[in-house]
Amino acid sequence: IKKAKGAYIYDEDDNSYIDYIGSWGPMILGHTHPEVVTAVKLAVENGFSYGAPTCLETRLVEKVISLVPSIQKARLVSSGTEACMSALRLARGFTGRDKILKFVGCYHGHGDMLLVQAGSGVATLGIPGCPGVPKGATADTLTVPYNDLAAVHAVMEQYGDQLAAIIVEPFVGNAGFIRPQEGFLEGLREVCDKSGAILIFDEVMTGFRIALGGAQSFLGVRPDLTTLGKVIGGGMPMGAFGGREDIMNHIAPMGPVYQAGTLSGNPVAVSCGLKTLEILEEMDFSSLSKRVSDLVSGLKSAADRFGVPLSVDCQGGMFGFAFKDTMPSNFEAIEAADMQMFKQFFHRMLLEGIYLAPSGYEAGFVSFSHSETDILATVKAAERSIEVLAG
Ligand code: PLP
Repeated sequence: IKKAKGAYIYDEDDNSYIDYIGSWGPMILGHTHPEVVTAVKLAVENGFSYGAPTCLETRLVEKVISLVPSIQKARLVSSGTEACMSALRLARGFTGRDKILKFVGCYHGHGDMLLVQAGSGVATLGIPGCPGVPKGATADTLTVPYNDLAAVHAVMEQYGDQLAAIIVEPFVGNAGFIRPQEGFLEGLREVCDKSGAILIFDEVMTGFRIALGGAQSFLGVRPDLTTLGKVIGGGMPMGAFGGREDIMNHIAPMGPVYQAGTLSGNPVAVSCGLKTLEILEEMDFSSLSKRVSDLVSGLKSAADRFGVPLSVDCQGGMFGFAFKDTMPSNFEAIEAADMQMFKQFFHRMLLEGIYLAPSGYEAGFVSFSHSETDILATVKAAERSIEVLAG
């Protein structure tokens, strides 16, 4: 890619594409939003990095606390991976326990202990476990299918008193798009309350994207810790983890759990993220949701017209689709979708100037820069593409 502006990206041959990846989530305002660009330029002129706290950093964390319901205290890091690794270390340090539970198809970054039955690129490339990850690193990582409370209860029966944390994507965006079934996240909250394990919502993808305050702002389930990334940096490298104050106080220097980063809270990245969140606060998320649902219902109608099985779903600025009759509720179900059909559809859409995620194991992202005309053009392109596939 050579450059990007608004809802469009441009390749080295100057072809333009309507972008439904948005750097895998961060670009919710669209690319090169003028106010964000100005904020970054100003920050750069004041120096790239000081290795000491800034007021900007405090303002950003105060903003995060005001927007994300369960966060009382937060710390900035440089990526979503770091946020998840740090939150899990904190949960282990706080509880004095080692085991963690994750869900098949969820992706929490590339930390050793988390590369077990992961989604995203790990699923796309069919890597079951990752060479280079020592057995010991994953020995305490337990996995069960998403949306399967019975499997969670079975794990709790055996390991409940050894479990430090349950980490979960409240809506999955790394195994296609999977919404939590009613009662699933509430059930996780209950088992954590009972066992003393820490409930971690990985909102790296859903934070400031599915709703301004993340999935937890409308789900009514409060995690103990939350991890953030992507939108929080507005396209610059940044992440954060935060949550209950009593847990966060266990991090050094207040507590014994060590965590640090040379570039954490980097002023250029923070300026980019802070301006992005300030603009987002003024935006109407319901208009974004409407655009996204117009997009997915357009895709569905196109598929119906040519008798191609397609299921679609969306929430806020995120969407997913699968070439099968019903939307998957876990990773196994998405594996039953027609991935060959997906690949052909992806390539036809690319020829039409539509840039979708090149994998059926990924979600799609719409920005506030995507216009009604962009959505209509995408649906028309989908109609032409599906007609060719169906023929
Ligand atoms: N958690 C989730 C839910 C993600 O989607 C990702 C990245 O896609 C990560 C964590 C890792 O974030 P990063 O790529 O910034 O390290």
